[in-house]
Amino acid sequence: MKSHVKAVVIGGGVVGCSVLYHLAKAGWTDIMLIERSELTSGSSWHAAGGFHTLNGDPNVAKLQAYTVQLYKEIEELSGQSCSLHLTGGVMMADSPERMDFLRLAHAKGRYLGMDTELITPSEAKAMFPLMDETNFVGAMWDPVEGHLDPSGTTIAYSKAAKKLGAEIVLRNRVVELTQQVDGTWNVITEQGTVHAEHVVNCGGLWAREIGRMVGLELPVLAMEHMYLLTEPMPEVEEFNKSTGREMIGVMDFKGEIYTRQERNGILLGTYEKACKPWSPVNTPWDFGHELLQPDLDRIAPSLEVGFKHFPGIEKAGIKQIINGPFTFALDGNPLVGPVQGLTNFWCACAVMAGFSQGGGVGLALSNWMVHGDPGFDVWGMDVARFGEWASLRYTNAKVRENYSRRFSIRFPNEELPAARPAQTTPLYDTMLANNAVMGDSWGLETPLWFAPKGKEPKDIVSFHRSNDFGPIGEEVRGTRERVGVTEIANFAKYEVSGPGAEDFLNRLMTNRMPKAGRIVLTPMINEFGKLIGDFTIAKAAEDRFMIWGSSAAQKYHMRWFEKHLPKDGPSASEVRIHRFDQTLVGLSIAGPKSRDLLQKLVDVDISTKAFRFMDFREMAVGGAPCMVNRITYTGDLGYEIWMAPAYQRLVYKAIKDAGEEFGLVDFGMRALLSMRLEKNFPTWFRELRPIYGPFEGSMDRFIKLEKNDFIGRDAAARERAEGPKLRRVSFIVEAADADVMGDEPIWAKVGKDYGTVEKPHGFGAPRFDAAGKEVRGSKAAQGASAVRGIVDGDWRVVGWVTSGGYAHYIQKSMAQGYVPAALAEDESAGLFEIEILGHRRPARINVEAPFDPSGEKMRS
Ligand SMILES: Cc1cc2nc3c(=O)[nH]c(=O)nc-3n(C[C@H](O)[C@H](O)[C@H](O)COP(=O)(O)OP(=O)(O)OC[C@H]3O[C@@H](n4cnc5c(N)ncnc54)[C@H](O)[C@@H]3O)c2cc1C
Repeated sequence: MKSHVKAVVIGGGVVGCSVLYHLAKAGWTDIMLIERSELTSGSSWHAAGGFHTLNGDPNVAKLQAYTVQLYKEIEELSGQSCSLHLTGGVMMADSPERMDFLRLAHAKGRYLGMDTELITPSEAKAMFPLMDETNFVGAMWDPVEGHLDPSGTTIAYSKAAKKLGAEIVLRNRVVELTQQVDGTWNVITEQGTVHAEHVVNCGGLWAREIGRMVGLELPVLAMEHMYLLTEPMPEVEEFNKSTGREMIGVMDFKGEIYTRQERNGILLGTYEKACKPWSPVNTPWDFGHELLQPDLDRIAPSLEVGFKHFPGIEKAGIKQIINGPFTFALDGNPLVGPVQGLTNFWCACAVMAGFSQGGGVGLALSNWMVHGDPGFDVWGMDVARFGEWASLRYTNAKVRENYSRRFSIRFPNEELPAARPAQTTPLYDTMLANNAVMGDSWGLETPLWFAPKGKEPKDIVSFHRSNDFGPIGEEVRGTRERVGVTEIANFAKYEVSGPGAEDFLNRLMTNRMPKAGRIVLTPMINEFGKLIGDFTIAKAAEDRFMIWGSSAAQKYHMRWFEKHLPKDGPSASEVRIHRFDQTLVGLSIAGPKSRDLLQKLVDVDISTKAFRFMDFREMAVGGAPCMVNRITYTGDLGYEIWMAPAYQRLVYKAIKDAGEEFGLVDFGMRALLSMRLEKNFPTWFRELRPIYGPFEGSMDRFIKLEKNDFIGRDAAARERAEGPKLRRVSFIVEAADADVMGDEPIWAKVGKDYGTVEKPHGFGAPRFDAAGKEVRGSKAAQGASAVRGIVDGDWRVVGWVTSGGYAHYIQKSMAQGYVPAALAEDESAGLFEIEILGHRRPARINVEAPFDPSGEKMRS
């Protein structure tokens, strides 16, 4: 065993071996994988080996598609077969809602280059004759599904990595990790100490324990999971013989089961509601190639539905039941990337679908380690997406909820109840008393909308407009016509201070820093010129800046800020960053009467001239010390008021009392998001993400290339010089009773040469040549049939929706999304259609914001 390496990967499951392979392939060959026992000694050996590309997050779906494409490559390099069976598979819908869900998934697939197809139950039955098709209303076919040999695949990765120069050490447990002052690691193992620049936690079932070695409580939990194998079935053999094909994979949401052919029989697994965590607090180190005791009673309700839906399987004898543990994060997606607060400590764990995701995880992580950027939009699996609130107990409750709902529909207006309330503000009880429907915003209870008196404050979940539609309309009109108040504690808040604060921020941000008492809006971009943040910054004093941003990105942004702090030399102590979290809370008032209202609560002049648009001031509001920004995300005249939690009730009561004469209304997050739509304002993580350049994101006026040298300036200058390929635009959509939710395809009529259409960093995304002909991407390499559904007569998919909804004040449905730059200013009617729940609706670009386009109200 070497004593010094560039990186140590802990864990020889499918994920660790994939990370090792990808690091070696990227050129880091001085690397070592350390495995406690033999390869696949965690959950990898007993996996059912199924793979598919569909994922609720389209970016994760793309990485899954990459994983499937990779198997041929590692087979060739390693000489080890993965026993790949690319059978294709169907997802069965038993209800109209489930069919809507499949339509949405199918629509997303259009711009991702996925070759899915909506089919009838009878067509599905022809490929899997064991089903009773009368239980279903429709299905979605995906050719890129199948199964493989889990051990063979893990070994193929490991052999391929070794061929490229990586070392693998077996039967050697990592027992301790200690960090040196220079940020490197001593990896203390049973066989001695290895010094490494980087450490990667691929500990699978023990990832939590490895996290604890460095003081982390990772939000990951193992769950028991069962699947059964039948005896050989004559129906299966007969099907194989008569068609010359293997039976396909089937996912049955109602039965919470997945099933496929395994040898001459059937494999059937369940995600049962009565799920059970395994080793909820500590994972025993002596657990090895063992299985858990099967518990048929627990899966009986799923089997009952399954046997009704697939009567052919019920008759077969059960040969074996496998019960094994595997790990999940709160939302079922992996935890990948560098951990905020630690140097050179990386995670690739909580991978619940190692054979669908392992390749993509390995690629993204190796890019990140070697090139400083994952190269894809990996937010959906970034380890930074959960905060401190994701404790052991919180994780336990949420993972159980997620597992038991794995096959349930998540509606766009659905808030899930487990582990709530976690964090609350002092106004929580008041908001409940006001009949608020609360939502979870990065672990914090936040009012979404207010139900009318006498009505139960509860969402009726739906893909269509629902019971919040009327009340949100009232909240919006009350605000736009009079004045409204809302809680904004769920924004991220930071303070950057010290003599070096301004230089530091000027280096990180694309806009100039404001003068004292003023505010700017500014994106933040990375070295590659991609958007990684969008902030409101106020200069509170010469050496003190207040920053507001996206709540969910707090760890993501802190990781970036810390990475770029001056590390040594005289300037090292010149910048301090403080993240407030819930030690600073807020309220926003907006609407034409908001100044009159605020004036009643303060003892200073806040007239237009004395307190201008984009001014920042510290002042007492209702007697409480506050910071006030003259800015609001509603796009109206308005203010954001920030205070310590101890004062929040006082300020809210003062606003409510003084607001009575102005007809004040409470409004929630949904009304706020509706109002920002009619101002064409983007949101972070929807419109603005690290796959877009700042000019693509239409953030031009906030990019000051001529100011000092800032991170990403050269790349941004290039983007501007070459002209962005895409542009973010706003649409008015002729929707019916459902609005866009995000990720819908945007269709346009052909006849114009608008160049290449590709979702950035896409695998196999559809491409068009200058003549408008589709250029085949990676699908061809997979041997799949032609991409269907992206060209339809004169129409073709040219872009994708990022978010939208109903704009209640202008009473129109709106959407934002990305289209080729050449189309971005074409407001002609009849040019675009946006697909909502399978129906293409006419849409028109709206270059100017429909509400207050000149910003007169905002500035008044
Ligand atoms: C019953 C069942 C069915 C499944 N079916 C599928 C399926 O059909 N498709 C699919 O994609 N996925 C499936 N999975 C999930 C799949 O098994 C996991 O996604 C995958 O195994 C995760 O791999 P991993 O490398 O992250 O973790 P693991 O396989 O758990 O590997 C972690 C490795 O790290 C080692 N290790 C831990 N700590 C240390 C230490 N301190 N020092 C040295 N070594 C250490 C362990 O010994 C182990 O070998 C299934 C799982 C189960 C249980």
